[in-house]
Amino acid sequence: MASNGVDEIKLVEGPAGYVLEDVPHLSDYILDLPTYPNPLQSNAAYSVVRQYFVDEDDTVQEKIVVHKDSPRGTHFRRAGPRQKVYFKPSDVRACIVTCGGLCPGLNTVIREIVCGLHFMYGVTEVIGVDCGFCGFYSKNTVALTPKTVSDIHKRGGTILGTSRGGHDTSKIVDNIQDREINQVYIIGGDGTQKGASAIYKEIRRRGLKVAVAGIPKTIDNDIPVIDKSFGFDTAVEEAQRAINAAHVEATSVENGIGMVKLMGRYSGFIAMYATLASRDVDCCLIPESPFYLEGKGGLYEFIAKRLRENGHMVIVIAEGAGQDLVAESIDQQDASGNKLLKDVGLWMSLKIKEHFAKQSVMDITLKYIDPTYMIRAIPANASDNVYSTLLAQSAVHGAMAGYTGFVSGLVNGRHTYIPFNRITERQNKVVITDRMWARMLSSTNQPSFMNPPKGTKGFTDQ
Ligand code: ATP
Ligand code: MG
Repeated sequence: MASNGVDEIKLVEGPAGYVLEDVPHLSDYILDLPTYPNPLQSNAAYSVVRQYFVDEDDTVQEKIVVHKDSPRGTHFRRAGPRQKVYFKPSDVRACIVTCGGLCPGLNTVIREIVCGLHFMYGVTEVIGVDCGFCGFYSKNTVALTPKTVSDIHKRGGTILGTSRGGHDTSKIVDNIQDREINQVYIIGGDGTQKGASAIYKEIRRRGLKVAVAGIPKTIDNDIPVIDKSFGFDTAVEEAQRAINAAHVEATSVENGIGMVKLMGRYSGFIAMYATLASRDVDCCLIPESPFYLEGKGGLYEFIAKRLRENGHMVIVIAEGAGQDLVAESIDQQDASGNKLLKDVGLWMSLKIKEHFAKQSVMDITLKYIDPTYMIRAIPANASDNVYSTLLAQSAVHGAMAGYTGFVSGLVNGRHTYIPFNRITERQNKVVITDRMWARMLSSTNQPSFMNPPKGTKGFTDQ
């Protein structure tokens, strides 16, 4: 039967139906057996809650819909407080670090880790690491208490600061050892969680009893396995303001076009959901769905058609869309090694203007809006505040129970513990053969760009 740890569990068919079978290396994800009673047991407020404590063997299935021929699927540990904990609260010295780009909800997660540790478990020693991973060895730390974090969730950004690059595993773990930290909470995107995984492995190699817990952050919703990432709802909501502005601009002139660039380096979820939410968008372009400009069924033809029909239109383009079309190549990387993308929104705006001027088809007026930094910097909305709170609480329960090497995440509506490697091995992308993309196409009634003329760049000839 299942035992402690957050490693995945596979269901195998047995004589009595489906039984839980542990996969090897479970011990990699648990510091030691928990021995202390959970302090929450003595809190009257929780005693009235039925099933507040999570059974060790409770799991959540990754895929709800399984085809008859596919494997029965992977299960993850259900998140939540355990009856027993590994850490004695007075021994805990926790730290929190935020890395990568900004995202609504970062401050809420910081706040709730501090408050969760303090109010649920009586942990008083929590420190914040300044400015990302490099802060472990080159910057100061700041003491975090419920009082110092009480209203930070109303502010955008991260009170701890953030950075890219500067991940030096051995220097970071040296610092964790020197400061006698035994719980590390790491908030950040795919790069950050790869860094967290390296820290976790080095901690294990040194045989330290330090729990490493991640809270995945990605405004683009590009982290796999989890239902959605915190900040995503807020981003989609805030994107409406930019789309509205583009719509107003477009409808105020003859043949007006509003072009809005939204976040989404490799995954077009924000653009797709913002389009579905708005209904003012005539065309949504994302990295997963190649498109072309010239010829029959191309973007120029569609723009001309929509302008003739309606006199105005709005185009939403994700930042990673059409990168192969942008002529000038800039082969540069940021400090973390991520490829720098070309500004496809600006490029596309110029191309469209050029095309209509050259063709003398019609006079157009195009306004380009890039709200990226305005969206990233706002505080979380109500639903993301709740979601961030629950993710942070789950991470605290997991670390207190002695689990390590995991992120907390929502899977099929249930909070779970997911091993690092499961969320860093691939990216979550919009599947253009799935229903959601089809729903989006039918809401805009745009071309699918599936039948390009022979020889079109980025497409293979059929
Ligand atoms: P986002 O892309 O959403 O802004 P991110 O976490 O992916 O967030 P990055 O700048 O890619 O942002 O990475 C954040 C931190 O993680 C950086 O300090 C970087 O050095 C570190 N990091 C990135 N990739 C790795 C890796 N493969 N191994 C170790 N550390 C890494
Ligand atoms: Mg990233």
